[in-house]
Amino acid sequence: MVATIADREKELLDRVPTGLLIGGQWRDATGGATFDVEDPATGRTLLSIADASPEDGKAALDAAAAAQESWGRTPARERGEILRRAFDAVTARADEFALLMSLEMGKPLAEAKGEVTYGAEFLRWFSEEAVRAFGRYSASPEGKLRVLTVKKPVGPCLLITPWNFPLAMATRKIAPAIAAGCTMVLKPAALTPLTSQLFAQVLMDAGLPAGVLNVVATTSAGKVTGPLIKDDRLRKISFTGSTPVGRRLLADASETVLRTSMELGGNAPFLVFEDADVDAAVEGAMAAKMRNMGEACTAANRFLVHRDVAEQFSTAFAEKMKALTLGRGTEESTTVGPLIDAKSRDKVHELVTAAVEDGAKPLVGGAPAEGDGYFYQPTVLADVPAGNRILQEEIFGPVAPITVFDDEDEAVRLANATEYGLAAYVFTKDLNRGLRIGERLEVGLLGLNAGVISNAAAPFGGVKQSGMGREGGTEGLSEYLSTQYVGISDPWADLA
Ligand code: NAP
Repeated sequence: MVATIADREKELLDRVPTGLLIGGQWRDATGGATFDVEDPATGRTLLSIADASPEDGKAALDAAAAAQESWGRTPARERGEILRRAFDAVTARADEFALLMSLEMGKPLAEAKGEVTYGAEFLRWFSEEAVRAFGRYSASPEGKLRVLTVKKPVGPCLLITPWNFPLAMATRKIAPAIAAGCTMVLKPAALTPLTSQLFAQVLMDAGLPAGVLNVVATTSAGKVTGPLIKDDRLRKISFTGSTPVGRRLLADASETVLRTSMELGGNAPFLVFEDADVDAAVEGAMAAKMRNMGEACTAANRFLVHRDVAEQFSTAFAEKMKALTLGRGTEESTTVGPLIDAKSRDKVHELVTAAVEDGAKPLVGGAPAEGDGYFYQPTVLADVPAGNRILQEEIFGPVAPITVFDDEDEAVRLANATEYGLAAYVFTKDLNRGLRIGERLEVGLLGLNAGVISNAAAPFGGVKQSGMGREGGTEGLSEYLSTQYVGISDPWADLA
């Protein structure tokens, strides 16, 4: 008998662990509480999983703290090989992970497969980096001491992830923590916890010792993580999510002077200069705007286009947006999935409505799509007045506001007029101009004639209120290491 798509989905969901992972065991939440995870394309429940209580959170930290010493002493090669086996397993099961992400998050299958490749790459990258946590040995300038530095794991970490990239946001934190020898408590987003549940089992199957990774999905994020942040056994918090929640966590973390990494919101400008290859800019715009339905921290949020090419760019961009196909992510024909929930869709529409009231002109879209699920039409808005709300806030949806500029200074001024500083994109054929603009933009990531630049080998992170710290690259490992300096008396002293 041929398995139908519904059979495949059911068979996959049946294999997702539904408990909390604490000390190497999947177990129920205390009191047996559960919560439903829904399919944003239909609003139907996919699976119910354990809903951690503050007590469960504490048990998870107990397990992480107990496992820390032996895990920190486990040879780096062994830690790296666990990551490498996990990379092989996730890659071999790419279709399964892609389907699960598409089901719980809504993204089209092709994009979900792209995320599996991207997310798995952190496992491979950090399997290789694990053996490169080098210290140094040198003579102090006046010759009286030898300077020895040792890299040590920071210790038990709390990792909090968002819903928009359910696999990659988890691997981007878990892989360097494993490579560095840290134990962890992971709190995945309540909207999309299933991918983390399945991935945690992959790590256990790859030989990760009990207690190194503990997973506590919950609908009471603050109540579960608050006490952990105040617990002096916790040594680091790594958070990816919105700037308002990041601010609150930073304030909490100050009580115990907890080490923090914050990957927060963005409001990326996408600059198109008059000398740009406009076709390439439109391709880049589609990627930078529509990847993940616009629900990415790096999503182009403001299109700043030179007056000479504004009409050409806007028309071609609107045509491409119009040609997209909305649908459930699991359907082959779908190029745009639903937004994550009704609240997100309504917020997107509120921003569009306010922009149109302020004089913006919709070239395409401008409204939610009819029918089930939380769909919003791909939208391009021309003539958006500077200062409008849609240019200040993260849209987190398939909407592209366009504003015209006349010269470099104005472009830079508009681009930097935001509290955020995560990503920016610049399209120009003049390399000097591209680099010059890059030096003037207040961002952590710059796409130069490129619409998607996330890569496991590159440092990802923002400036201003987009956060602090870097994930990926060689920088990603150092976020989970502390440096101890050992001062050694002059070994030549007794010959003096
Ligand atoms: P969010 O509402 O800030 O939630 C992120 C995570 O924090 C979720 O796991 C959430 O749990 C948890 N959380 C919420 N309130 C908390 C609290 N008081 N204490 C502890 N944890 C708490 O963000 P989101 O809506 O999931 O994600 C979208 C945001 O993430 C956007 O702003 C986007 O730009 C940002 N983002 C940034 C990056 C980056 O690398 N810079 C990458 C991806 C996304 P619940 O699920 O239970 O609410």
